[in-house]
Amino acid sequence: MGFKANARKRRQAAAAASGPAEKKQEEYVGEKKCDVADCDNWADKKIGGRRLAFDRAVDVWGESGLSTEARRVTVCKSCYRAWKKAKKDEPTEWT
Ligand SMILES: [Zn+2]
Repeated sequence: MGFKANARKRRQAAAAASGPAEKKQEEYVGEKKCDVADCDNWADKKIGGRRLAFDRAVDVWGESGLSTEARRVTVCKSCYRAWKKAKKDEPTEWT
């Protein structure tokens, strides 16, 4: 949790200091952060967040790539897309 809190602080400072590039994202305040370690997006269900079984998420990001050890991992919309894409490359998943 500490890592994420720090990252969030850094991002807020950067947003305050610089341009409106990320304005839309900064204005939205969600309740749940994406559990992918290097991702700082919101993962609320209403903005496309998804929940995956931990084991299925580990297949794509690895344990060190996830910032949770819960049995279910919450990911943002773009991470879910990445996950789905990675899974698509594994034909065994769908047979
Ligand atoms: Zn994410």
